[in-house]
Amino acid sequence: MTKVDVLIAGAGAGGICAALAAARSGARVLLLEKADQIGGTGVHSPVSLICKFHGTDHRPVNLGIHRELFPFAYLHSTQDFRPQALRLTYDERELYQRYLMLLSAEPLLTVRTGEGVQSVHRDGSRIGHVITDLGREIAARVFIDATANGNLSAMADCRAMKGREGDGALQSATLVFGMGNVDVQKLKVAEFKTRGGLASLWRELSDLYRKAKKEGRTRNPKSSVVAFPYPDGKRLLFNSNEVTGVDPTVPGAEEASKEKGRELVQELIEILREHPAFENATVEFVANKMGIREGRRILGDYILTEQDCLGEARFDDMVAACAYEIDIHDPGGGPTRMVNIPGSGYYHIPYRSLVAADAENLLLGSRCISGTHEAHSSYRVISGVSAVGQAAGTAAALAVRYANGDVRAARPEWIRFVLREQVQFVEGNVYSPPGWKTPYSE
Ligand SMILES: Cc1cc2nc3c(=O)[nH]c(=O)nc-3n(C[C@H](O)[C@H](O)[C@H](O)COP(=O)(O)OP(=O)(O)OC[C@H]3O[C@@H](n4cnc5c(N)ncnc54)[C@H](O)[C@@H]3O)c2cc1C
Repeated sequence: MTKVDVLIAGAGAGGICAALAAARSGARVLLLEKADQIGGTGVHSPVSLICKFHGTDHRPVNLGIHRELFPFAYLHSTQDFRPQALRLTYDERELYQRYLMLLSAEPLLTVRTGEGVQSVHRDGSRIGHVITDLGREIAARVFIDATANGNLSAMADCRAMKGREGDGALQSATLVFGMGNVDVQKLKVAEFKTRGGLASLWRELSDLYRKAKKEGRTRNPKSSVVAFPYPDGKRLLFNSNEVTGVDPTVPGAEEASKEKGRELVQELIEILREHPAFENATVEFVANKMGIREGRRILGDYILTEQDCLGEARFDDMVAACAYEIDIHDPGGGPTRMVNIPGSGYYHIPYRSLVAADAENLLLGSRCISGTHEAHSSYRVISGVSAVGQAAGTAAALAVRYANGDVRAARPEWIRFVLREQVQFVEGNVYSPPGWKTPYSE
């Protein structure tokens, strides 16, 4: 049996940040990804937009690994809403390279792709080991579920929540695609990199789209066209269809939904071609992976709510913060509900929401943390999930070093101390763990 300090399942934004943080804090880490490549949603169903990570006063509330992923974004403020402000976006190929570079720099970290967790074996209140789909048995002192949909936790029989209260319906899914060679001179505003230019593009394309929709030329329930520029200002990523009723926890459902997604993509491309600027535009790619917004949310020691987000919650056990809006893509495909975080513009995410209620040594390190459907719609973005992952990885390393893997014994003040050492944004008291030395200073 292979033995490590921390085993992390899932190498999306959350899992990668968890792995980097745990290894940087001195733990021997194994990161398992069932797909052939690391990167998860942000790379294989690219999303383009760097979502809000500044408070209303323009101070970043995520200064952690997120900054290493998107350094250029820190030269701007995501709270700058002037028409001439840039829409901050990323190129998934660059993000992928950056992930690889950061992961390969950590001597205590091993990454395996094409090998997922297939079953989880408990030893009373603890998880003892997992078996991978290659048949390997791996024991760890702490496990981190970074599978987005809470797959590892479900295999460990942990309680989970799914969808909105009442009917359990999940946010819609989207198949994204990219287009290039757009003739910007034929747009009303001849660029789409700025907020003003992009808003003008959306209006022009949405007018065309709504007309086509009235004429019955698309079955896409979405009410308008949404696209974001790549950083080069030459290509666009379309996040512009709503595929409803996709439950990623049902085997085969995600794969089956791609067919519907492809039909909606094709319909939209044909409509776009009617605009002179898109007459000769090229389809750069259609994602091979369906973009899934929501799956299981694992029950933790605390359930973060919409009231917490909109009430700018401040928790004694904060280990991460998030500034992104409540952003619910309607499960039925209707209009998206977006609500800004008021006042300071951000809320705390408590450590208890990262601690799975039903195990002693399991942390949640991706969008499957413990929160309601509404709260999840906010912290699920890369800025939120990367902060969650970094906190989970740091806590896991501390639990290994000081408490034989009991994650509840990792004190939030210690976690914040180590996060702050890594320059992450934290608020509240910080205490150095006993005898703590930054691994890199030894
Ligand atoms: C269409 C769409 C548009 C979006 N737009 C934006 C946006 O503009 N900006 C933004 O910041 N966010 C956006 N988001 C949200 C954001 O991209 C994701 O929520 C976030 O990237 C999720 O990161 P994650 O680490 O939680 O999960 P993921 O990136 O999904 O990673 C989970 C990984 O776990 C792996 N896995 C699953 N099961 C196992 C297993 N048993 N063993 C091992 N590995 C496993 C999966 O293969 C996957 O690689 C969007 C999401 C969608 C779907």
